[in-house]
Amino acid sequence: MRAIYFSEFNGKISVRDVPQPRAPKSGVVIKVEATGLCRSDWHGWAGHDSDIHLPHVPGHELAGTVFEVGEGVTRFHVGDRITVPFVNGCGKCTFCTSGNAQVCPNQTQPGFTQWGSFAEYVALENADFNLIALPDEISFQTAAALGCRFATAFRGIVDRAKVKQGEWVAIYGCGGVGLSSIMIAKAMGAKVIAVDINPDALQKAEELGADYSINSALNDPVTTIWDITDLGAHVSIDALGSETTANNAVLSLRRMGRHVQLGLLLTESGQSLMPMSRVIGWEIDILGSHGMPAVDYPKMLALVASGELKPQDLISREVSLSAGAEELGKMENSKRSGITIIKPSM
Ligand SMILES: [Zn+2]
Ligand SMILES: [Zn+2]
Repeated sequence: MRAIYFSEFNGKISVRDVPQPRAPKSGVVIKVEATGLCRSDWHGWAGHDSDIHLPHVPGHELAGTVFEVGEGVTRFHVGDRITVPFVNGCGKCTFCTSGNAQVCPNQTQPGFTQWGSFAEYVALENADFNLIALPDEISFQTAAALGCRFATAFRGIVDRAKVKQGEWVAIYGCGGVGLSSIMIAKAMGAKVIAVDINPDALQKAEELGADYSINSALNDPVTTIWDITDLGAHVSIDALGSETTANNAVLSLRRMGRHVQLGLLLTESGQSLMPMSRVIGWEIDILGSHGMPAVDYPKMLALVASGELKPQDLISREVSLSAGAEELGKMENSKRSGITIIKPSM
């Protein structure tokens, strides 16, 4: 089968023939119909993810059809349309059995702990536990666009911050995860303030319903948010993941506000500064969000199927494996907004 492949971190990325995977005993092989290209894939190629062993095939945001089933699989059959969270749980531990597979200590992640979906076929573990049946009205591209970004934003806004109607939500960073957060926060009835330094990204944020947009290259976002909201935002999201955005996001909050960290804070030290005296004095909640367990997908898919959420609006282009390989190596400095979907059949 053809796959996007690299044998060196920061090295050449090529499309080449590699052995087609076989279904694990309790797993499946999926024929990949659509797969999202994400900044996490770039981090993996750049050597920032210790789970990756070389040579490697990336790709973790996928939708497709079941091509082969392992003998232990009972719920899924050849030809079923599916998607899958980027975190696959073991299905047996205390976290998985309580509905929190997104933090399973024995998790597998296609495209990180094993070869991923930038290929014609991908193997997935524990299929009965991890696979999600796709309703007919949701296309493969739309399902792939849920990827890690939309699903992580959904869990962050709905299940972690528990955003309520009428609340102020300040969103720092209007890339894929930030724009997803804007769409979801608006669907929950919140008032949204978008922050970025890229005018194109801010325009897209407004198109998706952001009530205010702040260009933080021109204006101090913290004081502007305080001017708009009077008492500060109820919820802040750092959808970029830098020390500056994480700090500013927390400082934009009112007393007893909730901060959700979605962007990976990949500093040299792996640590990050946070204004902890503010966190203590104002009783601010600092929350993480790490994907979404398969058991929670149906409520999100219902909102997608009904048209209340439109992740497909975040797709900006669909490309072949070779065009995807080229884009992957250039993501660090990319000014492109929206989600790129790779279609291995193109
Ligand atoms: Zn588990
Ligand atoms: Zn991703």
